[in-house]
Amino acid sequence: MDFDLTDEQELIRATAREFTDKEVVERSRENARNHHFDTDLVKKVAAQGYLGAIVPQQYGGAGLDYVSYGLIVEEIGRGDSSVRTVISVQTSLVCSAILKWGTEEQKHRYLPKLCSGEWLGCFGLTEPESGSDAASLRTRAKRTDSGWVLNGSKMWISMGNHAKVALIFAQTDPEKKHRGLACFLVPTASEGFSSQEIHGKLGLRSSDTAELSLDEVEVGEEAMLGEIGDGFKVAMSALDNGRYSVAAGCVGICDGCVDASVRYAKERKQFGVPLARFQLVQEMIADMILKRDASRMLVYRAGALKDEGKPNTMETSVAKLYATESAVECANLAIQVHGGAGYVDDYPVERYLRDARVTTLYEGTSQIQKLIIGRAATGINAMTPMEVE
Ligand SMILES: Cc1cc2nc3c(=O)[nH]c(=O)nc-3n(C[C@H](O)[C@H](O)[C@H](O)COP(=O)(O)OP(=O)(O)OC[C@H]3O[C@@H](n4cnc5c(N)ncnc54)[C@H](O)[C@@H]3O)c2cc1C
Repeated sequence: MDFDLTDEQELIRATAREFTDKEVVERSRENARNHHFDTDLVKKVAAQGYLGAIVPQQYGGAGLDYVSYGLIVEEIGRGDSSVRTVISVQTSLVCSAILKWGTEEQKHRYLPKLCSGEWLGCFGLTEPESGSDAASLRTRAKRTDSGWVLNGSKMWISMGNHAKVALIFAQTDPEKKHRGLACFLVPTASEGFSSQEIHGKLGLRSSDTAELSLDEVEVGEEAMLGEIGDGFKVAMSALDNGRYSVAAGCVGICDGCVDASVRYAKERKQFGVPLARFQLVQEMIADMILKRDASRMLVYRAGALKDEGKPNTMETSVAKLYATESAVECANLAIQVHGGAGYVDDYPVERYLRDARVTTLYEGTSQIQKLIIGRAATGINAMTPMEVE
């Protein structure tokens, strides 16, 4: 396997690094303090072409490969996971689903607006009563003469208050269980569609998170993404891409922890010498570098497989599991290196810990990733107790 980046990929990384340092890092502390979803910054991210990096140019995207996309996400993730979440949701969950499952009409209608940032999109899978067990979702889609009427609620939906279009997963026939699920492209301005901001989050404080309510929302036939019964497959294929993006963002958190810790350990003196002189401090830095580098290699492997069009569900879950757990551990270590100073937001490390924490929960918890990996290794599904043989 060739681990060297091409000249173009190096340039993409350098550009994303510069953009992150100039635009994202600058605002991250104030935005987190103010719980501010920074729409001006989202416009700048869009102008860089980062909202549709993997979407072909014919649909308004940048037409980049997955490894390049991962490099961008890593850099933005180092700057601010709330901004990274916008890229991950818009590109990996919403655009990738439309790209894979949409008709030409749907692709031309939505992708250019999403790639340019004119519209934001959201991904409405989770509900108050269904999280890891996504197939048990209760939002109901019933046929009408002209299309469908949707009723239900969605929980924890990133960008749900700002999105112009929502991917809504709904059940068309409860008796068919996951084979009855369908996905709909729902304009959020539709009558009966409403959103409410979720307050009090541990991290991702400048990210928008919403509860959605659908009360007799009518959509036409053309709103369905894929066919009846494809909903579960649409969700799982989108999550394969989303997990890659979350993993890449977590490499960025690990990298930020290393940078901040090395800088601080060389500046801060105790017992008359810089902290970096102490072996136990160097051990913490070495542990962070180990986790960052291993996470990065796993992300590159998943990205390379995606670029080659090879199956990668297991490898993507390995990258997601390892990188997200590593981000939490690195952030915790980075606070330790900073001592008391790491406990306040003068340094980025306390935000790294608060922001990293959600990554082992969303887009499939760490337990769910282990079950995906275990299923791939054994051929036995241990996720659903009823199906254990
Ligand atoms: C900030 C934030 C943003 C989010 N954004 C979105 C979004 O944009 N769109 C969206 O659809 N969702 C989103 N989510 C929801 C997220 O994907 C879910 O929280 C996640 O899938 C877990 O579901 P749950 O919270 O219901 O936990 P549960 O499924 O109730 O899990 C609770 C615990 O039980 C464990 N568990 C569950 N089932 C099993 C099993 N079979 N075996 C072993 N352990 C198990 C879990 O690992 C976990 O530890 C977001 C969540 C947060 C917090």
